[in-house]
Amino acid sequence: MKKTETAEKKSDGGFLAARLDTLSGVGEKRSLLLEKLGLRTVSDLIEFFPRKYEDRRSFTAVSALQEGTKAVIFAYVSSIERHRIPGKKLDMVTAVLQDSSAEIRAFWFNRKGLEYLLREGDTAVFCGEIVSYGNRLQLSNPEFEVTKNPKKSVLTGIIPIYPSTEGLKAHWFKKLMSDVLEKALPLTEEIIPEKFAEKRSLMPRANAVMQLHRPLDEAGWREARRRFAYEELFIVQAGLVLRRHALKSCRSAAKIIPGKIYEAFSASLPFSLTGSQQQALKEIFADTSSEEPMSRLLQGDVGSGKTLVAVGLAAACCDSGVQCAVMAPTEILAAQLYAEMEKRLSPLGVKTAFVKGGQRLSERNAIIKGAGNGEINVIVGTQALLFDRVKFKNLGAVVIDEQQRFGVEQRKAIVRQGKAPHLLMMSATPIPRSLAMTLFADLDISLLTDRPEGRKKIETRVTDLKQMAVLLQFLIDEAAKGGRVYWVCPRVEESEASTAASAKKRFAFLKKHLGRLGVGLVYGGMSGDEKEEELKKFRGGETKILAGTTVVEVGIDVPEASVMVVEGAERFGLSQLHQLRGRTGRGGRRGVCILLVENLENGIPDRLQTMLDTDDGFKIAEADLELRGSGEISGFAQHGLTEFKFADLKKDLTLIRKTREDAAELAESGEIEKYPSLLEAVEKRFLQNG
Ligand code: ADP
Ligand code: MG
Repeated sequence: MKKTETAEKKSDGGFLAARLDTLSGVGEKRSLLLEKLGLRTVSDLIEFFPRKYEDRRSFTAVSALQEGTKAVIFAYVSSIERHRIPGKKLDMVTAVLQDSSAEIRAFWFNRKGLEYLLREGDTAVFCGEIVSYGNRLQLSNPEFEVTKNPKKSVLTGIIPIYPSTEGLKAHWFKKLMSDVLEKALPLTEEIIPEKFAEKRSLMPRANAVMQLHRPLDEAGWREARRRFAYEELFIVQAGLVLRRHALKSCRSAAKIIPGKIYEAFSASLPFSLTGSQQQALKEIFADTSSEEPMSRLLQGDVGSGKTLVAVGLAAACCDSGVQCAVMAPTEILAAQLYAEMEKRLSPLGVKTAFVKGGQRLSERNAIIKGAGNGEINVIVGTQALLFDRVKFKNLGAVVIDEQQRFGVEQRKAIVRQGKAPHLLMMSATPIPRSLAMTLFADLDISLLTDRPEGRKKIETRVTDLKQMAVLLQFLIDEAAKGGRVYWVCPRVEESEASTAASAKKRFAFLKKHLGRLGVGLVYGGMSGDEKEEELKKFRGGETKILAGTTVVEVGIDVPEASVMVVEGAERFGLSQLHQLRGRTGRGGRRGVCILLVENLENGIPDRLQTMLDTDDGFKIAEADLELRGSGEISGFAQHGLTEFKFADLKKDLTLIRKTREDAAELAESGEIEKYPSLLEAVEKRFLQNG
């Protein structure tokens, strides 16, 4: 019995998996055109859904037809004849169509044999454009179906319009689709376990496919969409649950327990840790004191003090005799992290090292050696440098700063180390809940909700280029009081399309007018060393103004920085602006953020008003998601796992929560292996998107 079942399944899979070019009527040429649409197999085809629908459910009486509309009528053919138009190679058929209200002439060009398909005395459904010709309405080139039962006609109902199938005749495509649907639908396998389909009242998959191709009514169509939205989200959630499981259970990690070094670190701080820093460390140590590797995201608005939490973890690593790797996306950030680790930990006898580009070979080799024999406890670097070059003796924890997600590459790099270290990711990008629950559902989250003492609300102003003189004076005063100024421009070089100055041009301008304050310049194209040099001058006060592009966006921490000018502010995402303004007001000094736009004649743009209204990074991220979609949120590259055809991260929060619950329940039950089509769908999705 069981054998036949599996045998049957295989042959079913056979048709669904069949390549389209094996179907009759699909030659090489057409199969290439289909492939351009991403359609290779039968199952690709049946999930190629209409772009929109045309509602042709109601018939119009001939007397009520209106020029310029598309109409469906049911009429009697009172006459039909073929004409030749002398001198032209045109060939026309006309017919007179009649219903109980009136009559209308229909015409077709170049339709060979039409008069044999449609004859005098037939009744038929017609669908076509109403045009006016010599003051009379006519029906142009209508599609028709001879029938006595108009309600059953394929020309009526809700008609699917497919995405442009270039080179393929729409009519042929529809026929292919309906043939394939007829054969394939009964073979469609459920992906969602029945238990959940029932609990969430989801229609069967085959029905949903049909409802999307030919909906009976709006309600059915909506239900079908809900079903597919559930399926998309459920697949992602199931994958995340599995991944989390794999991370936690495959290998054990070293126990990390805070001891004397941690105590000394904590006692040496000139200030006390905030409540949420303490809470986060507590959550971290609860995880690391077990052998199950931690996967935790530390999320906190800019300036909330994430770095110190990482230092605390590193200290506890030393207490526990394991190493800590700290990585950042850029060398500037890595340098800063290193400075903090060094400043807090080396007085306690901890050996720290910094792997950077352009290092002397002897220096690099010493680090590699120290990492390999366990002499160095804490090693900081950019991801590439750290994991490509360095092999750790006893890696206990990895800290990843300002990283929006833990990608495939990092996973591989760490696996190469042959250990399962505890993992702490840190991000200042406040993540809207819907995104957090999809992208980060495999992570535990610690939140830094309060700010270090002495940090005041950053004052935000919007001003325009006409106020330049006032602005410059303000900067002079600010510098006189010991403050420092960032001046961020949307790009490095000049461009014709924009009036906002480039960083280079603005640098020249500032140098000319405020040269005596010292003006520096940083941008993406500089080498790591050059950037660091500029930053060092700024940090030390040699330059009081630093012009640049958004390289200053993430993570840079200069306590004296008090003013952030963002030129062309309307070009930046809200979260990005929030990140930028969070670079100021760090050392107990009041921060001021100046959003500079070309002119304010038409008032403050709505988007920028949001920046004035709130300094809650979370609210700002939600507004960003609302305005621009998930791909645009600063720091989130378009990510496959958050791209959905049916689900909407802005609206489907409840559905996300339900799929998450259900996926967790499935994982709990340990029965996930019983659902091969689900596993296959998960694999496909995660293989593509890591
Ligand atoms: P972010 O979360 O943006 O990475 P940082 O870790 O760079 O923030 O910290 C911002 C600033 O606040 C730093 O200058 C840091 O020394 C300081 N800081 C961190 N924690 C505290 C605290 N508990 N009390 C006072 N200052 C703190
Ligand atoms: Mg930081």
